[in-house]
Amino acid sequence: MKKAIVQFSTINALMAGLFDGVFSVGEAKKYGDFGLGCSHALAGEVIVDHDFLEADGDKAVKVMGDNEVLPFVQVTTFQPDKVVDITDVCKSNLYAHLAHYLPLDNVFVAVRISGQFDELKIRRPFAQHKPYPSVVKVFEQQVVDTVEKVTGTLIGFWTPEFFKELSVAGFHLHFIDTTRKLGGHVIDFSASNAELAYECKQSVQIALPESEEYLRKNLKMDDLNKVIKQVEN
Ligand SMILES: [Zn+2]
Repeated sequence: MKKAIVQFSTINALMAGLFDGVFSVGEAKKYGDFGLGCSHALAGEVIVDHDFLEADGDKAVKVMGDNEVLPFVQVTTFQPDKVVDITDVCKSNLYAHLAHYLPLDNVFVAVRISGQFDELKIRRPFAQHKPYPSVVKVFEQQVVDTVEKVTGTLIGFWTPEFFKELSVAGFHLHFIDTTRKLGGHVIDFSASNAELAYECKQSVQIALPESEEYLRKNLKMDDLNKVIKQVEN
């Protein structure tokens, strides 16, 4: 399945508090060099842009080693179906921009947007310690940066609404600037001019954690969708 997105763990496992890294960067690397995730103990946001880059709340962006571990990551190869120049793009109209080229309601899409962003709002968490707090508590304490006129790349995925317990439904994008000094999970962005590249993905392969903690965790969260919306959007 050459166009598959390979996903390690599920978003509801992460939201339920499984923050321990259980998949190595070296293992994830075998399946692609494009994607996103988060690092052990929710220390940082991970941007997979050839290298696995980690953006922590209190540290400089760094390249991760193969032995470091991740609780959640999605990777794929990226060979764009189309690369187009677009104008006046922001988080709320990205769907319309993409829908112009591809009916995307029922498929996964790998998305890359490059250029100078007029405004960008991103966040990075801090490393957590056991017993881990709830995911909502973690993200209340995150670092939020609002920057202007920053050049870089948004990397991530579009996930159809009906897969919302597996991945973050809608667009899930992480950012890395061209100097690799600033990165994080994208809350909002706008660009007057940008390059949009996408690849439609018709399959997803999922690796579930083998840990005892995962096996025994109750993942039937009643308020899951509310929590994901609060944390990921
Ligand atoms: Zn994210």
